Amino acid sequence: MDTKVVALANQKGGVGKTTTAINFSACLAEKRKKILLVDLDPQANATSGIGLEKGASSSIFPALLGEVDGVSLIQKTGIKNLDIIPSELDLAGAEIAIARRDDYLHRLREAMEPIVDSGIYDFIVLDCPPSLGILFMNALNIADEVIIPLQCEYLALEGLGVMVDIVNQIRDAGNPRLHISGILMTMYNVSTNLSQQVVQEVVKHFGDRVFETLIPRNVRLSEAPSYGKPIITYDPYCVGSAAYRNLAKEFLKRQKQHEAEVADEELPTLSSVVPPVESSEENDLPVSG
Ligand code: ATP
Ligand code: MG
Repeated sequence: MDTKVVALANQKGGVGKTTTAINFSACLAEKRKKILLVDLDPQANATSGIGLEKGASSSIFPALLGEVDGVSLIQKTGIKNLDIIPSELDLAGAEIAIARRDDYLHRLREAMEPIVDSGIYDFIVLDCPPSLGILFMNALNIADEVIIPLQCEYLALEGLGVMVDIVNQIRDAGNPRLHISGILMTMYNVSTNLSQQVVQEVVKHFGDRVFETLIPRNVRLSEAPSYGKPIITYDPYCVGSAAYRNLAKEFLKRQKQHEAEVADEELPTLSSVVPPVESSEENDLPVSG
């Protein structure tokens, strides 16, 4: 299987991008998928949340400048099948540093291409910063798909239209594989009507693109990063662990469906080769009886 690049993106802050990046990656790794998590946020929360010390190793920044090969920045996490390219605060200067270049929207592609082409990983998961800036655009230019975490709160959909427009523009401008594979409802509160109403509203807009799996609000999920552990190591049997394991399972099932749909689109069909025959009396077959 080719390496697929999945971006976790939403310009809204605090919606569960990083929590999902860490735990979704760990659950895919548990299912024996080879995963590279790339922390594209200068806040470096995915880096510390997976157990690496912030600032101890280089971010992707020098690879964006073309100074080093992206491969040399890969670090092991303590988790089997899960590697990371960490982040640190210097990444905050990356947007300004690369903005002067003509190919400033494709720097991540150049940095990551040898890793993608090597096929070592099944999935590369990009934890995006909460903005629609240059790093986000770079992420979309290399991504096959985008997962949008939405918090089950009032105004969850606010600003989403702009992001969907940018995804469409980048797809049309040269990354035809790019698609929004799923909307993930996070911090679902079982004891409020609001969560339920928000999910209903989002399904009205996005239909079956909304993941069946809902991520509940779960205090264990918010504690785990301070121990530098994904939830399935920190508390393997809590509801947060169950939810992210379900997400990984649903995601892999959707991958198979998507591949089948793409293969179907590429199949020649009779109607694409032979123009429809005009019906006329001469063409009608004699009917016996
Ligand atoms: P940013 O935009 O700043 O990068 P983010 O979208 O990556 O934020 P997170 O950092 O994943 O969001 O989550 C924001 C906060 O909410 C964190 O403190 C996290 O621990 C907490 N949180 C995320 N998901 C859940 C959950 N399902 N249950 C409880 N707390 C959660
Ligand atoms: Mg984050």
